[in-house]
Amino acid sequence: MNGSSAAHHHRRLQLPYLSVILAVAVLVATVNGGEFTDSSAIISRFQQYLRINTAHPEPNYYKAADFIVSVANSLSLESQILEFVKGKPLVLLKWPGRDSSLPSILLNSHTDVVPAEHEKWAHAPFDAHLDTSSGHIYARGSQDMKCVGLQYLEAIRKLQNSGFRPLRTVYLSFVPDEEIGGFDGAKKFADSEVFKKMNVGVVLDEGLASPTENYRLFYAERCPWWLVIKATGAPGHGAKLYDNTAMENLLKSIESVRRFRAAQFDLVKAGLKAEGEVISVNMVFLKAGTPSPSGFVMNLQPSEAQAGFDIRVPPTMDAVSLERRIAEEWAPASRNMTFELGQFKHKVSVFDKFGKPILTSADSSNPWWALLEEAIRNANGKLGKPEIFPASTDARYFRELGLPAIGFSPMSNTPILLHDHNEFLNKDEYLKGIDIYESIIKGYASYVEHLKDEASRDEL
Ligand SMILES: [Zn+2]
Repeated sequence: MNGSSAAHHHRRLQLPYLSVILAVAVLVATVNGGEFTDSSAIISRFQQYLRINTAHPEPNYYKAADFIVSVANSLSLESQILEFVKGKPLVLLKWPGRDSSLPSILLNSHTDVVPAEHEKWAHAPFDAHLDTSSGHIYARGSQDMKCVGLQYLEAIRKLQNSGFRPLRTVYLSFVPDEEIGGFDGAKKFADSEVFKKMNVGVVLDEGLASPTENYRLFYAERCPWWLVIKATGAPGHGAKLYDNTAMENLLKSIESVRRFRAAQFDLVKAGLKAEGEVISVNMVFLKAGTPSPSGFVMNLQPSEAQAGFDIRVPPTMDAVSLERRIAEEWAPASRNMTFELGQFKHKVSVFDKFGKPILTSADSSNPWWALLEEAIRNANGKLGKPEIFPASTDARYFRELGLPAIGFSPMSNTPILLHDHNEFLNKDEYLKGIDIYESIIKGYASYVEHLKDEASRDEL
């Protein structure tokens, strides 16, 4: 060994100090699982999850499932992997409650993410780069929604360390395929025997980031109706003026749709309604014309023309009158128009299986709503007005069963970057979210329904 005797002497003096510090560190770690609970360990687990590439079209679901199960094992949670469709594992975890007869809590999250255009990102989307000056963690899935899935587990770790034991059973589901409709994930799960046996009383699922200090809570979501309208008419020379051409008939419909769209949008612009509270209609394709080798035949009026619309309907709206509007104004048979009534290209009903509007009560009539608000406030979180989610999530499959399902992702002071380039979540915001879930899970898992409620429900 090289080095002066002075350096040697110095090192010898330091050694006892070092071993004392080490001993204390080991002691702390043994007492409260410190190696798992300090914030750098929490952040590095988040990064580990984010680094698993679960982007479509080839999500690495098994690697994600292995990771979730390993975290669950460190918490002694019961785990099982359900594979309703081969190659699409769903991880179901269980933290058993003291009273298994009470309805359980389900914390849902999806493991898949949307693809990323790597070259448009400042940091590679699956590196989970932590910018040390800002504290931002850049990754696809950092907002949508690997944050939430892991925050649930970190919150459970904190609760366990504090000695908390749930009264109600807490389930966690990590589902595949949300980003492509959830048919082989949450839908099959919600329809399964396994799900029925879980006796779920309430579901938490994803929400959206909030650019303000207020968290956002979602009690419903707009239902997608993908409408294709088709006009037919007699073909004719391009120079001839005559009535009922396919193009003229389609244009009249498009004008009518545009007026409706503008009126809905005006309500949003005027601040009278939130984005999720109006019907949105956007034309997504136009298909017409007679192809020729150089483009389209120019002196011929075609006999068919089609347009496609993405319509989003809030369950609070009168869907029947919208259907009437489509049949009478947008695609009237009197103008030789057809649309596939009752068989839209895709149509999600605004009603649940009991025929009620597919939404969760967002007031004190719903104890789960009140408990959630209270738990968030107890953890120093601020809340905005209840909202309707503008797009779709897996929560609809649980609401369809008549279950209360609330959309919530604890991200305040955060730009909305889901599906965008450079999606990120700040590490402090992530850590704060864990405290919020700690409060929520504690409130939910200890909730005892009052007998009064039972009686009044029976009367109903
Ligand atoms: Zn999502």
